[in-house]
Amino acid sequence: MRPFEYRRAEDVAGAVAAVADHPDAVYLAGGTNLVDHMKLGVATPSLVVDIGHLPLDQIVELPDGTVRIGATVRNSDLAAHLMIRQRYPVLAQALLAGASGQLRNLATTAGNLLQRTRCVYFQDVSMPCNKRDLGSGCAAREGYARYHAILGGSAGCIAVHPSDMAVAMAALDASVVVMGSTGERSIRLVDLHRLPGDTPDRDTVLTHGELITAVDLPQLSFSQHSAYRKVRDRASYAFALISVAAALDVSDRRDAAGGPTIRDVRIAFGGVAHKPWRATAAENFLRGATASVEKFREAADVELAQAETLRDNAFKVTMVRNTVASLLADLTRRQVGDIGGDLAAKEQNP
Ligand SMILES: Cc1cc2nc3c(=O)[nH]c(=O)nc-3n(C[C@H](O)[C@H](O)[C@H](O)COP(=O)(O)OP(=O)(O)OC[C@H]3O[C@@H](n4cnc5c(N)ncnc54)[C@H](O)[C@@H]3O)c2cc1C
Ligand code: SF4
Repeated sequence: MRPFEYRRAEDVAGAVAAVADHPDAVYLAGGTNLVDHMKLGVATPSLVVDIGHLPLDQIVELPDGTVRIGATVRNSDLAAHLMIRQRYPVLAQALLAGASGQLRNLATTAGNLLQRTRCVYFQDVSMPCNKRDLGSGCAAREGYARYHAILGGSAGCIAVHPSDMAVAMAALDASVVVMGSTGERSIRLVDLHRLPGDTPDRDTVLTHGELITAVDLPQLSFSQHSAYRKVRDRASYAFALISVAAALDVSDRRDAAGGPTIRDVRIAFGGVAHKPWRATAAENFLRGATASVEKFREAADVELAQAETLRDNAFKVTMVRNTVASLLADLTRRQVGDIGGDLAAKEQNP
């Protein structure tokens, strides 16, 4: 590991000034991602500014009903918080689907958002990787790409963002509060992470020195009807092959065919792109439609129309489609009861 200077930040302004003044300084939160990268030689900062003790570890409700989550709130504490479990179950479930208990005890809200891709070539400094070393090439395109992107990739990079928590936050329309040397700004979470394009070395729109101080969750009238489903190679301690976060508002009013109607919906996909993928085309397709497995599958297909697959990751298209259908069918049942053997049968035998 390259030698580095360690500083413990005393306040937000001091932390921002310390990092902004050094071109290769970084923030250290829980360290569960950064320290691994320093050991592997993927990250080589000369200055590490520890923000773990800043007073950013509270979860509070603002007067307008927004829930503000401090940047250093630990993943375990966020998942266990009663207001989060009751109001935003999708978020609690996404957090608990990630990593392990020990890691969640250390990992922070902001660190989770800014964790870097798990592409094996990114973590291996002997391999070409445009994200680590822009212009060196992309070993994954002709290599092991089972976990890689099917949406929004580029010739230069097909990595995916690995966070579970961020997918739930994207579905919930969260915003990120950021402090920089010129002041504070708020960024919609869906705009925080970038698609790779020609500059896959940049994961986010943050500029050097900007510190995430909080994540805001706006009120959503049906957020209690939300859930997260993660599909992975083993039942725990594995990153997502794909995941789906959704919130659904279904009316008991039946259409001509006897099915309930969708009033509103939020959907985001994980494990498919360089960023948490908000499925707005699928949402638009479903608003006002009948809640049925056919419609849920069609909605996924609308979103996946632009999918570009490789030999090893083409299975993700079917996996996303089936997961969207089964998750939305569950959310429908929980709100309006069993909506008929027809739906259940079709879900079992697509
Ligand atoms: C074995 C293993 C399995 C895992 N499995 C999963 C999984 O299944 N799902 C999942 O979602 N995650 C998983 N993770 C990743 C884990 O969630 C992240 O490592 C963790 O959330 C990172 O948080 P941290 O506080 O430790 O960040 P750190 O490692 O401290 O920092 C990560 C990055 O964020 C930057 N940063 C941190 N805080 C701020 C801030 N406030 N403002 C600006 N920049 C900041 C740091 O500079 C660094 O670049 C796994 C990790 C491991 C090691
Ligand atoms: S997919 Fe991206 S992160 Fe992986 S090797 Fe290619 S450029 Fe690097």
